[in-house]
Amino acid sequence: MATPALSSTDDIRTRAESALTRCGAQLAAYKGDALTARTPITGAALFGLRADTPADVDRAVEAAGTAFRAWRTTPAPVRGALVKRFGELLTEHKQDVADLVTIEAGKIRSEALGEVQEMIDVCDFAVGLSRQLYGRTMPSERPGHRLMETWHPLGVVGVISAFNFPVAVWAWNTAIALVCGDTVVWKPSELTPLTALACTALLDRAIAETGAPAGLGQVLLGAADVGERLVDSPLVPLVSATGSTRMGRAVGPRVAARFGRSILELGGNNAAVVTPSADLDLVVNASVFAAAGTAGQRCTTLRRLIVHEDVADTVVERLTSAYRRLPIGDPFREDTLVGPLINESSYTRMRTALDRAVEDGGTLCAGGERQLAEAAPDAHYVRPAVVRMPAQTAVVREETFAPVLYVLTYRDLDEAIRLHNDVPQGLSSGIFTADQNEAERFLAPDGADCGIVNVNIGTSGAEIGGAFGGEKETGGGRESGSDAWRSYMRRATNTVNYSGQVALAQGVNFSQ
Ligand code: NAD
Repeated sequence: MATPALSSTDDIRTRAESALTRCGAQLAAYKGDALTARTPITGAALFGLRADTPADVDRAVEAAGTAFRAWRTTPAPVRGALVKRFGELLTEHKQDVADLVTIEAGKIRSEALGEVQEMIDVCDFAVGLSRQLYGRTMPSERPGHRLMETWHPLGVVGVISAFNFPVAVWAWNTAIALVCGDTVVWKPSELTPLTALACTALLDRAIAETGAPAGLGQVLLGAADVGERLVDSPLVPLVSATGSTRMGRAVGPRVAARFGRSILELGGNNAAVVTPSADLDLVVNASVFAAAGTAGQRCTTLRRLIVHEDVADTVVERLTSAYRRLPIGDPFREDTLVGPLINESSYTRMRTALDRAVEDGGTLCAGGERQLAEAAPDAHYVRPAVVRMPAQTAVVREETFAPVLYVLTYRDLDEAIRLHNDVPQGLSSGIFTADQNEAERFLAPDGADCGIVNVNIGTSGAEIGGAFGGEKETGGGRESGSDAWRSYMRRATNTVNYSGQVALAQGVNFSQ
């Protein structure tokens, strides 16, 4: 078979420049030699960029703080108008932002467009929310008193994001934070600075067009040190950080030490249970997307399949054959389903995990081989791997951020749930079954211990309407839909006395 052509680095660079220009980003203002914007498609450098200094971080936080003082008293539906305009601009520039997502994160077209759609969806959600930031009224125990709660804007929100969802995670945070009356300082992944510049330019345009205070949304380029400065700033009451558990372990305690709040969205080690009654067509189709989609680089990627022993051979056979047919290559090609890994260390980590799994008695049933190494020696394309494991060994209990699917077998559902929960992470899970009792058992309090628990759906590809996040080492944060907005506001409990009398709660008498 002829090797499919890859886009050239020059073409990719030109495409990136055009997309940035159309979005209104001034690339020239960011040129420098502290950071390198690369593309995993060819593995080559695209542009040298400057990085922000600690003083720049402080200035950005101060500017966001100044904007906050005007924004917090702007009526929430008026704040919604800004987010509405931002959503319109994203719709207009959907292809441009998706181009940059493909260029920097290596996502295939459909997934890159899906990521931008997710941003548009969360803007819609936030606009509706801007008229629904409800507080409760509670019955007071005292006559002539009213007891209620009011939700107020919190302040500057620091957003730290990962390379694999370079823009959607920021949009989840930003759209909600802005309608809640907060302002945002964003430290995107150093691996994806271009998407960040494009999105910030679009937000700036929406700010200018709607007359919102300048400084509402700031971007900082740089690596962990820039993130650390943001994390330590006492002027940032909430830090929403998405990335590895290693990063969360550093960020969580630092924010807590200054009594700040954090939303931590960290690593996952997601599993699905396949019961004997499951529709195996559904299992295979859903699992291939969940495990191999985005080249296994989603926090919700399916990493463990816990299959009943009666159907395990069939499931492995069918998965293996589907994996062998997966089209791997240039993510800009319409027929590609698996793009590149982000970089060489990612490939090395995948190879190390596969070696460890085999040492532990695992059988590599498919994949693991590097692809397109001749056409793109600096890029890292790999065939997703399926490994059948005799037990849930240490390597299976870790998150390897690459397309490795471990298959384990079980005899009874309790054993499957035990295996499922016996990992440090707790993000996303699923059960494939036609038996309602089994499904309910999985959803029950002693079932799956994750933040996302699905039935007859793979672990990845959440909708924005639900709260997103996970338990244990995944960090406990919730973002996006449902009532996740509450984390971006402060609650004031108000008691109003209209009785003209002093009446003390709990029947306390203090009269002289
Ligand atoms: P990473 O932890 O290397 O980096 C994430 C971000 O944190 C980057 O912007 C980085 O510069 C910053 N950072 C790193 N150390 C820091 C520190 N000490 N202080 C402040 N900032 C710091 O993660 P990555 O490789 O970009 O992304 C992959 C990881 O992210 C995977 O573990 C994946 O599961 C996780 N992830 C989780 C979610 C979720 O919602 N749970 C979503 C996407 C990715």
